[in-house]
Amino acid sequence: MHVTRFLRSQHQSLAHIVDHYAQYPPTGLTMKRIVEFAREGDAQQSFLFLRNELPVRLASMMKEMGHLPPRLLKMPSVKTVNGWYGTSLFELHSFKHLKPTGEIIKKFTETLQNIRRRHKSVVETLAQGYMEFSDSGKVKEYEESQIQYFLNRFYLSRISIRLLMYQHTMCFGEEVPEHPSHLGFVDPNCFLEDTVKDAFENAQFLCEGYYLVAPSLRLRTINATNPDELISIAYVPSHLYHIMFELFKNAMRATVEYAESQKSSNKLPPITVNIVKAKEDLTIHISDRGGGIPRSKADKIFRYMYSTAPRPVSLTDSQHSGPIPLAGFGYGLPISRLYARYFNGDMQIHSIDGYGTDAYVYLQAVEDQASEWLPICNRAA
Ligand code: ADP
Ligand code: MG
Repeated sequence: MHVTRFLRSQHQSLAHIVDHYAQYPPTGLTMKRIVEFAREGDAQQSFLFLRNELPVRLASMMKEMGHLPPRLLKMPSVKTVNGWYGTSLFELHSFKHLKPTGEIIKKFTETLQNIRRRHKSVVETLAQGYMEFSDSGKVKEYEESQIQYFLNRFYLSRISIRLLMYQHTMCFGEEVPEHPSHLGFVDPNCFLEDTVKDAFENAQFLCEGYYLVAPSLRLRTINATNPDELISIAYVPSHLYHIMFELFKNAMRATVEYAESQKSSNKLPPITVNIVKAKEDLTIHISDRGGGIPRSKADKIFRYMYSTAPRPVSLTDSQHSGPIPLAGFGYGLPISRLYARYFNGDMQIHSIDGYGTDAYVYLQAVEDQASEWLPICNRAA
């Protein structure tokens, strides 16, 4: 009896906390501001900003999650994710009125690390929940579009929350950035060619493991503003890597499978990449000759769970130790497009059915134009 009452009161106070923070819109940052803050800010300022900003971003997603189809909310994996968000919000809220002493800030930093660990597999777990939902009954069309809409906002919010947490723990905590020249998770001089080649090589390795062959890379760079300089912008290298790795896996699978279907004995056509930096845009153009996508399917490719590859085994099964699949979850394109859009960029895909596909990734070349693109909570809902 006591336990039930306790749980109910916990639940009520969580709902209260969610309502409180969800009334505020997030404070979007620009890449310029993030870089400046990493150089000139301190742990205390960061603590004061994040102890409010992180709960605001978490709470607005919890509120939106509450509007999902009730049957989806009952799926065990969805409940798990919901629970993680609730616990993390509680933990952050406990810092609301504390004085920013050295000890408190240290505790806050540890809390952020714990939250990051807790939320590590959110994407896979929620994807698992969506699979459970569609495997256990018919999904109505309006439910499908509601979920797709939500997932875009939810995953985008998650990208932003992770970046803010990394900036704190790496710039002001004890965690070290991947490279000494990085400012936290951000590289103020991210050399595009290096990351693109890196992603290509790893996708190639995966492709060869799967098909025994893989296309080669033909890369060209044009710096239209400073022709003699290597191309770089301030960016999050892991985001760029993610985008390129997903696009290369898709281009390679299409190239190999199309050549096989044509019974072609010629050498595989290469994947062509052009990286062009102009005054405003940094554009990466990836072109393959993998047979393209028919127009009837073109509007589906950015849907979560849309894939023409066989679905691999369970997403969250950590016991599973088989090879990493090349395709099949249908999360590659929608998530990559979120990464591209997050700092005011974009991704577009155009195809010629029977020939090949062109993917365009647009990034902001100007730091103060690269502002966070965030889901703003619809307060009328
Ligand atoms: P997955 O790779 O897991 O199938 P994606 O979101 O990466 O999921 O891609 C969705 C679908 O879009 C693919 O299954 C494929 O049918 C199609 N597609 C994506 N890129 C290409 C490409 N370069 N050429 C042909 N088809 C593609
Ligand atoms: Mg893919």
